Amino acid sequence: MDAIVAISLSALAMTLIVGVRYLLASGGFALATRWRHRDLYAGLDPQIRREIGWSLASAAIYGVPAGVLAWGWQAHGWTRIYEDVHAYPLWYLPVSVLLYLVAHDAWFYWTHRWMHRPRVFKLAHAVHHASRPPTAWAAMAFHPIEAVSGAVAIPLLVLVIPIHVAALGLVLTIMTVMGVTNHMGWEIFPKFMWGGRLGGWLITASHHQRHHERYGCNYGLYFRFWDRLCGTDDGLGDFTRSHQQARARAARGAGGGTAGERGAGGLARRVDRADALGEGHDPRVPHR
Ligand SMILES: [Zn+2]
Ligand SMILES: [Zn+2]
Repeated sequence: MDAIVAISLSALAMTLIVGVRYLLASGGFALATRWRHRDLYAGLDPQIRREIGWSLASAAIYGVPAGVLAWGWQAHGWTRIYEDVHAYPLWYLPVSVLLYLVAHDAWFYWTHRWMHRPRVFKLAHAVHHASRPPTAWAAMAFHPIEAVSGAVAIPLLVLVIPIHVAALGLVLTIMTVMGVTNHMGWEIFPKFMWGGRLGGWLITASHHQRHHERYGCNYGLYFRFWDRLCGTDDGLGDFTRSHQQARARAARGAGGGTAGERGAGGLARRVDRADALGEGHDPRVPHR
């Protein structure tokens, strides 16, 4: 009985931590977005409310396995998480972080690709793609089925691959920051991280933007390795259209604005209609 209470409290605590972490990270980057690109999320309030709702539900789904594992780690030493930094050689610290990112990326690529099969897409993944364009709040906007597939990844890894507790904290921080920034609608990282040689292998907002534009490509999470190996890499997206739509929405919201802004409004309506036509599109096929 004591164990059930302890597990429940641990799951509740983890749910709160994941939920608050989401609100702080997405809220922080949404503020940064308002500062850098004032109207980028103009007119998206109903969508943002949906994104926050799905994300907070996902926080509970992420919190439960994490809470059970945290309890098992403390009470029974279930996991390979270690606290003595000298338990493994120091060079293993960065290697463990890389191992986690590579393994999580592979898990994400294949489960994400599976969720783009038409029937699974409709059931489990359409919720995430309902964000058009996604915002910083879409980081955890998943249907519960998708949330489960994401929530089990790190708990499974801590059972198998040794990692220092601080290195695990770094992995979770990278996961959170990339989850938010990949959906933000603009590039916060310096160009060498998404252009040039290094950018050819790393995933940032420019790469994931294209996934949200065309669906059937760019499935990865951190690295472009699997996309390139499997021929699903379709290069970098272009934020211009999102920014044009935002300007047009802001102009519509302001009651029509100038003639130039009304022109932009017409463009946005055409783009919106094109998006609506893409609704029934086969999610495996690049959406152009
Ligand atoms: Zn996404
Ligand atoms: Zn997708």
